[in-house]
Amino acid sequence: TARLVDGIAVAAKIRTELKERTGRLATAGCVPGLAVIMVGNDPASAVYVRNKIRACHEVGIHSSRFDFPSDADPAEVLACIRSLNADPTVHGILVQLPLPKHFSVPDILEAISAEKDVDGFHLYNVGGLVVGSTVFPPCTPYGVVKLLEHEGVEIEGKNVVVVGASNIVGKPMALMLMQREATVCICHAKTRDLAQFTILADILVVAAGKPNLIVPQMVKTGAVVIDVGINRLPDGRLVGDVDFAGVSQKASLITPVPGGVGPMTITMLLANTIASAERRMSLAEPERS
Ligand code: NAD
Repeated sequence: TARLVDGIAVAAKIRTELKERTGRLATAGCVPGLAVIMVGNDPASAVYVRNKIRACHEVGIHSSRFDFPSDADPAEVLACIRSLNADPTVHGILVQLPLPKHFSVPDILEAISAEKDVDGFHLYNVGGLVVGSTVFPPCTPYGVVKLLEHEGVEIEGKNVVVVGASNIVGKPMALMLMQREATVCICHAKTRDLAQFTILADILVVAAGKPNLIVPQMVKTGAVVIDVGINRLPDGRLVGDVDFAGVSQKASLITPVPGGVGPMTITMLLANTIASAERRMSLAEPERS
């Protein structure tokens, strides 16, 4: 049976290192600052924002929160972003998605200074990802790469299949693994016969948001299976996209849900914010994306 990846433990280890980095920054007279903008009162978003703010506090990042009502004028939010762009105490700006329907998400994301775009969604950083030079890798796929590194999983030359092609997870995941010289295949909702692709994967990353999408007969024996999905079942249980019990019998390494990729996402947001402050202070240690 597969070895389990303990995302909580890996995240805790990385957060300890991040705390040391904020300590060094403090010595140099800089407290990293993250500004979080939330529009409306989506309950899931509210939980994510609270968790991000708590995590900032734990590692020594100063966070500030800007709340707008769901009927806010996009111009007000843009004005807030512009003032944060100009504020030297702010090193990271994130706008919690989704936004209300009357907002243009691209307009909001492009308004954030590329130098403070810690979610990595600005086109400049997306372009950087394509050419392998981004400074803010998007947090969820960045967390997956860190988990693979931590577990000593070799990426170069491996067959990787990414199930899911969103801008937030699937596409950047595929680009980051291609940059590390894996052979990458991207599947999505219109893929015909998903199993014929997934069965080839040495590393299978699943981010579709569909419980039990991946069953054992779709997985190669000994594969590394990374389950990014988070689904709430009618009985209240939280599950991923992978039939965990079944696939565990076949994989060599597997991430649980919860406790796998999830804890890494916020950790990488903290890492991006600290890296931004270090760059400002010229303390940066360059890292491959
Ligand atoms: P999304 O809905 O934007 O994209 C889903 C992708 O999966 C699309 O490309 C779609 O074509 C594909 N897909 C849907 N059904 C499929 C099927 N039957 N077969 C193959 N592909 C299919 O979602 P997202 O924002 O990319 O998130 C994906 C999942 O990851 C969700 O469950 C989300 O909650 C979770 N997520 C987790 C974290 C984390 O920190 N662990 C972060 C972000 C998202």
